[in-house]
Amino acid sequence: MPSVLISGASVAGPHLALWLNRYGFDTVLVERAPEFRDGGQNIDVRGTAREALRRGGLEKAVLDATTGERGTRFLAEDGSTLAEFPVTGSETSGATAEAEVLRGDLARLLLDAVEGRTETVFGDRITALRDDGDGVGVEFEHGPGRRFDAVVAADGIRSTTRSLAFGDEARIRPLGLEMTYLTIPRTASDDDWWRWCTLRGGSANLRPDRHGTTRALISETVDRGDEHPASERRGADLRSPEEQRAHLRERFGDAGWETSRILAALDDAPDLYFESIGQVRAPRWSAGRVALTGDAAWCASPVSGVGTSLALVGSYVLAGELAAHDDPREAFAAYEQRMRPSVEKGQDLPPGTPQLANPTSRLGLAALHAGLRAAGTGPGRALAGRLLTPPADQFELPDYSRFDRG
Ligand SMILES: Cc1cc2nc3c(=O)[nH]c(=O)nc-3n(C[C@H](O)[C@H](O)[C@H](O)COP(=O)(O)OP(=O)(O)OC[C@H]3O[C@@H](n4cnc5c(N)ncnc54)[C@H](O)[C@@H]3O)c2cc1C
Repeated sequence: MPSVLISGASVAGPHLALWLNRYGFDTVLVERAPEFRDGGQNIDVRGTAREALRRGGLEKAVLDATTGERGTRFLAEDGSTLAEFPVTGSETSGATAEAEVLRGDLARLLLDAVEGRTETVFGDRITALRDDGDGVGVEFEHGPGRRFDAVVAADGIRSTTRSLAFGDEARIRPLGLEMTYLTIPRTASDDDWWRWCTLRGGSANLRPDRHGTTRALISETVDRGDEHPASERRGADLRSPEEQRAHLRERFGDAGWETSRILAALDDAPDLYFESIGQVRAPRWSAGRVALTGDAAWCASPVSGVGTSLALVGSYVLAGELAAHDDPREAFAAYEQRMRPSVEKGQDLPPGTPQLANPTSRLGLAALHAGLRAAGTGPGRALAGRLLTPPADQFELPDYSRFDRG
């Protein structure tokens, strides 16, 4: 049986393993984190990604695991409502999708689905790749060296596996935004809405989960900077957790609304996660028998709203093409040809994103408030719903069921 090593056990990695298992491949997942990472916040599963989950028998489980978020409510710093967009069940209902699930819950479902069929190794990572044309010799930081027919890097925007195979080919296009995510205790004032408080230079957000806690997010506008090699760290990616806590307290200490509650919870957050937001631009997604998928290949960023959907669709297509071709190199070429157009659409953000929603000046904030008030009423509502809804439906999911061995 052909063997595939997959680096990264979040969304793209386990989903790829799930489909490869069904097509009769031997799969190994290697994850750098010492144990399953439960962190992360709401991610949307939209459009064709829902169909991929349906075909994989996971759609119901994902819908059962949704956060119950009723919609998105935009607030001013004093907590007053500027506009609200409830979930309507339609695919153009706005920022809250019908299938809003926590990243950790989705990753857990996917990992459970491959248990017993995929060998999963935590606390290790690939340190060297040697592609000799017939297979790939792999060295690990801890485990013994092994050989595979193909290797796939599904290890996120900062993929080090990508650097091993592609050097500095991939670049990051910074979007001028940093995000910090954490889980905080739920209080009586928390409800089932995504409450997005617009601030000068960013936003503070509180969202429901289904675990009796609340998910908090602070976004911060920063200088966009230039496109740079993906291996280079910038801004928040260079800070330690202590430095990030101090930075946020200094920056948002008197920002208003419930920001002080979020800042107070920074020390005790079990899952503090922060990053500089950017998009990955990779001129190719494979080199010989090594390929990229998910954020490692094309991270569209959290502001695109399609990062997870693209990861699910991309890994489904990659598995299908590997099943359809004897030579992984041909499979990788077919996969890239199918996925590029959707990825380009997903990366194509509306003009002014994310700066218009995170203005730095008083005037910009006033304009945002006026725009949101208009969008929340009458004819502005339908247009805003469409603008807030990412393009997740513009891809025909190929049918690979002829390769399915169950
Ligand atoms: C902890 C966490 C929290 C997140 N929270 C959010 C969120 O709140 N909102 C949002 O929109 N997106 C979030 N994301 C990103 C989101 O999951 C992705 O944008 C999207 O789902 C695509 O997933 P992916 O599997 O391609 O990449 P990712 O989800 O980034 O997963 C990459 C995986 O690879 C692992 N990894 C990294 N380097 C190596 C290595 N060298 N060797 C082996 N494994 C490695 C990582 O630990 C991670 O498990 C989060 C990601 C993570 C890891």
